[in-house]
Formats: sequence, structure tokens, C-alpha cells
Amino acid sequence: MEDGRLIPLSYISQYCFCKRRAGLLLIERQWNENEYTAAGRLEHEKVHIQNTERRQGTVFMSDMQVTSRKLGLSGKCDMVEAHPDPCGTVFPFLGEEKYILFPIEYKHGGLRSNAEYELQLCAQALCLEEMYGCRIEKGALFYIGSHRRKEVTFTDEYRELTAKTAESLSKMLEEGRVPAAETAAKCGRCSLNDICMPGVSGSAGEYMDKVYASFKEVQE
Ligand code: SF4
Repeated sequence: MEDGRLIPLSYISQYCFCKRRAGLLLIERQWNENEYTAAGRLEHEKVHIQNTERRQGTVFMSDMQVTSRKLGLSGKCDMVEAHPDPCGTVFPFLGEEKYILFPIEYKHGGLRSNAEYELQLCAQALCLEEMYGCRIEKGALFYIGSHRRKEVTFTDEYRELTAKTAESLSKMLEEGRVPAAETAAKCGRCSLNDICMPGVSGSAGEYMDKVYASFKEVQE
């Protein structure tokens, strides 16, 4: 971002899930918990403990802070594994040996396919690449409920889509306009359903302005 503001990296996944949801959270600072967000938050809290551990040559770094000036994003990786590899990169904080980094994002529930989580993971990899001048080919989503990993390859297509999503997010924030609702099946599990009111055009703020205006008219 030109003015140096950084957007929390998790908004990549919010924006990919629903542009309006990202706008309500980021621009109008709306929040509402439901069973899905509560389960995700509680499971995530358990893994957010900063720690570095070495096991059989691999280094496990949890809750690692990452930033990308190019993408205008900043956030945390739940876990980054560093695998020793002669074709890898030297990381000052890991000594003189070469490593390949492998980011892992924890998600609640069982193994499933979620493009928005894969883009969020790709954004983490792009941040790490920019910070340490390395190349990261793969990462994984770890589904806490089923203890299963889904490996994700950071293809050129994914990299491009992640960069475009970051650019759209930044543009949305700059314009300060919440996108219109895209009513779909996902609205049923969205914690912002009551605030969003899918079917009503414009932002929740604009809608409330209209409600207040008509309320005033009745009173006058
Ligand atoms: S209710 Fe639907 S349109 Fe509204 S924010 Fe949630 S997912 Fe998006």
C-alpha cells in the first residue's frame, strides 16, 4: 500500500469468502460471533503460542510474524517448518545450514476444500519469501478436527490471484465502500448475516442512515 498501512493477512481469506463480509469487518468494524467463528477462535487460541523447537533436523516455529510491503499485508503464521535442504536458503536466525520453509495454517473442523484458506496460506508464503529472499513451493492446511493435512502448492496462478486479492482489498479500504451482498448458500453460516442483511443493497451504514432518516421524518 502506498501510504504504508498494512492490512491483516487473514482478510485475504475473508475477501475471498465474501467481499461484503471483508468490507463490513474492515471498513465498518462490524463483528458478530456464531458457532462457526467461536469454534475456529477457540481452536486457534490453543495453537497461538510462540515457540521454536528442533526435532530430527527440522525446526518448528509457531506463531511467526510475517509482513509484505509489496502486498501491503501483515499477520502471523500458525506454524512454519524449516526443513534442512542443500538447495534451500540460509536464514540468519537458524544458523549456517540451508533450509526450505513450509508454512502451515491451522483450521477448525475436518478436512475439506477451501480456496480462501489456500490463498491465505499462499499470502503467508509470499510474505516469507519477501522477508527472507527465499522460494517456498508448498505449505499445508492442518484441520484440527480430523488431524489431517492438506498440502497446497503455490503455483503461479495462486501467486497472481493472491496478489490481485491483496490489491482489491487495499482498493476497497481506500475507497471506503462496502461491496453489495452476494446472496448465496454461504450466507447461512455467516456470522454477519444479521448485520449484513443480504438482499438490502449498499452498506449496513448506508442502510442505517436511511432508517434514521425515515425515523426522523416520522417524528417531525
Ligand atoms: S450474509 Fe452473505 S453476503 Fe452478507 S456478509 Fe455474510 S456471506 Fe456476505
